[in-house]
Amino acid sequence: MKYKKVILANFVAHEKNFWSRRAVLRSGLGYIAQSLYNNGIEYIVMDFALGYSINELLKKIKLFQPDLLAISMFTYKYAEAYEKIKKVKKEFKELKIVCGGPHITTYGESALTECSEIDYGIKFEGENAILDLCSGKDLRKIPGLIYRENSKIINNPNPTFIENLDSIPFPEYHNFELENYPIRNSSVNERIIPLVTSRGCPYNCIYCTVKSIMGKKFRTRSVENVISEIEYWYNKGYRKFSIVDDNFTLIRSRVLEFCQKIKDKGFENLYFLLQNGIRADKIDYELLVKMYDTGFREIGVGVESSQNQILKMLNKNENIETIEKAIKNLCEIGFAVDLYFIVGSPGETFEDVLSTAEFSCKYPVNYVFFFNLIPYPKTTLFDWVRENGKFIYEPEYYLNKINSSMNKPVFETPEFSAKERKKALITAKKTFKDFKRKSYFNKLKSRGAPKIIAYLISKIYSLYFVQILVNDIQIFRYIKERLWQKNSFR
Ligand code: SF4
Repeated sequence: MKYKKVILANFVAHEKNFWSRRAVLRSGLGYIAQSLYNNGIEYIVMDFALGYSINELLKKIKLFQPDLLAISMFTYKYAEAYEKIKKVKKEFKELKIVCGGPHITTYGESALTECSEIDYGIKFEGENAILDLCSGKDLRKIPGLIYRENSKIINNPNPTFIENLDSIPFPEYHNFELENYPIRNSSVNERIIPLVTSRGCPYNCIYCTVKSIMGKKFRTRSVENVISEIEYWYNKGYRKFSIVDDNFTLIRSRVLEFCQKIKDKGFENLYFLLQNGIRADKIDYELLVKMYDTGFREIGVGVESSQNQILKMLNKNENIETIEKAIKNLCEIGFAVDLYFIVGSPGETFEDVLSTAEFSCKYPVNYVFFFNLIPYPKTTLFDWVRENGKFIYEPEYYLNKINSSMNKPVFETPEFSAKERKKALITAKKTFKDFKRKSYFNKLKSRGAPKIIAYLISKIYSLYFVQILVNDIQIFRYIKERLWQKNSFR
């Protein structure tokens, strides 16, 4: 072995504050870790989402003495990640640094040009390449590897996507600080284990990065293989699983098989979340009932807009009538439904967003998110803005400083100015918040609460950070579950 001791790091920055409690276990890092584990390569993990600082990483390097630092990089805040890498290299000149993840897949060799302290980059799926690298294989023969040779950067051909996903060991998260990831809202007082049951997506939504990172071919693990992962955690006492696929329900028969096999196994009290969002045209009433009976409870739906002409511009390949029917079904069955909308799509106007905001208040969903549309490089949207719109900020700036939760548009079009976009984001979020507050108010009043008390409680309860507290703290969860029943506003 060329590299025998590895530190795996996630640099997605969260400071040591209230929000760092929202850290989620990263399955991507888990898969890399498991490949190392199964091949006897020693490693430890530093997840900056748990609040670690660069100084703590430096101390850890001194103590653990790794010969490789492997970093998972996202494009958001990539400049901050470069800064951290520079600090590490300044202190530990001999330590080799390899970066993988969506940023390297998107930027390729230019990431190594921009940050000369990165020794290797791994494009696309990293499970095989990291093992090849650690084993000392001839660098020229490692698909997907970017490396330096006599100060020249060599960019090897892309790897083929892993066809048999069962061949990759699922993550057991050894050396992860499992106990430090927060418990979220649930009737089962349990931490969440992320599950990846498939990779890739055959659709072509113009803003989406999935196809350029995971490919257009939908690749699946066998249901048995997924069940064995669930069983592994079940036997350790875990009951709550977040399926983080991009298109979990694409193949109906596979979902039905999954539900049946869970039933056959006799697992009890399982709780599944699908928060990455599913396609509304890939669910139906019968399937949803089966999923509910299996323990699915929280489902996100990517709606994007209530206007068919906008959905068409986004190349969503579905219409609002289908989406609305799916939302109705989900609410009727009793799922906690989150709806995801985007503000600022090609062709959209201020009035379109107002109509969408109105639509968001139609059904008793759990929460509604209005995202500021960010064009990522290598997407059709990015090229569209270059040709038809105007960037308000250069990509280098907004990819580091602005995210989709901020009311800060990064581009504009003749029909939808930057000023209007900002106003639309604020108005849409406020419309739903006001609607939700009114619903709480009416509910409390109908239960006999005096008007002023109902007003105050509903006002406080509808604040976003209060919702998070309620979801995170067990006693608040207990009260909530008794106050709001199935099919009511949560
Ligand atoms: S947004 Fe969803 S359906 Fe569309 S391409 Fe991306 S993963 Fe596929």
